[in-house]
Amino acid sequence: MVLTRQREPLELRDLPVPEPAPGQVRLRVVACGVCRTDLHVVDGELTRPKLPLVPGHQIVGETDDGRRLGVPWLGWTCGRCRYCTSGRENLCDEARFTGYDLDGGYAEYTVADERFCFPIPEGYPDLQAAPLLCAGLIGYRSLRFAGDAERLGLYGFGASAHIVAQLARHEGRHLYGFVRPGDEAARTFALELGCEWVGASDERPPEELDAAIVFAPAGELVPAALAALAKGGRVVCAGIHMTDIPSFPYELLWGERQIRSVANLTRCDGEEFLALAPQVPVRTEVETYALENANDALARLRRGDVRGAAVLRL
Ligand SMILES: [Zn+2]
Ligand SMILES: [Zn+2]
Repeated sequence: MVLTRQREPLELRDLPVPEPAPGQVRLRVVACGVCRTDLHVVDGELTRPKLPLVPGHQIVGETDDGRRLGVPWLGWTCGRCRYCTSGRENLCDEARFTGYDLDGGYAEYTVADERFCFPIPEGYPDLQAAPLLCAGLIGYRSLRFAGDAERLGLYGFGASAHIVAQLARHEGRHLYGFVRPGDEAARTFALELGCEWVGASDERPPEELDAAIVFAPAGELVPAALAALAKGGRVVCAGIHMTDIPSFPYELLWGERQIRSVANLTRCDGEEFLALAPQVPVRTEVETYALENANDALARLRRGDVRGAAVLRL
């Protein structure tokens, strides 16, 4: 499924089976998760994709020699810059991203730099494993940035939050969920995932929060989340794109409250998270789509109708 122009539907096309360059593996794709970032690419909010582009960066595939590997968003880094050499390859200026700078997994075959692929934990079915590769990985990094917060708020209950909720409960944290006003399905889902309280995004929780992770790409949630924090608390913005954050009184930030973003992932995050996920165990809930129905999956995600994660099955 190919993006030729942003803000237009993907097109089903016949492409040649890609040939791996030195250092790359070829994968027969068996599943590819559909991420909100794919929507930002298709809808033009991320403005510099390679075109034409095969989107998709939560790829579970089988190599020519029969190994099951996962391909995440971080597809390549320079390995030499001050970010790469200080454990912060996620910030590399030269980084190339799967399904953005590089063709991704909305396809029967793809190629990937083997150094950036992860073995899929044994026992995870392909479809359930796919959302671990971005929703899970970025969620894990976001949760680490929440520090040791005992009371944790989650804004937006999509693919990433449904994984983070399981990690956070496993760590014994108290969870507070925030969903769009009137979204009963999301509310029920958040309660099932262990939230002690679920409210609308403009409500205050019954307790002040030590940290909040904002998954929804809506800038107005940042001051709303700040207002729900205890002193010293932190708002973590997990998405790659967000609408503008409205101005807010300094009082909301006062008391040593912090705001930080989460950019991409490091391979270290991937190794840690994929070792942790089977211990929890993280169980992902997926809606599956045939490859040629990728536009339907994106449309449902755009409307906020997906329960858990959307995954293309090949
Ligand atoms: Zn670099
Ligand atoms: Zn993603």
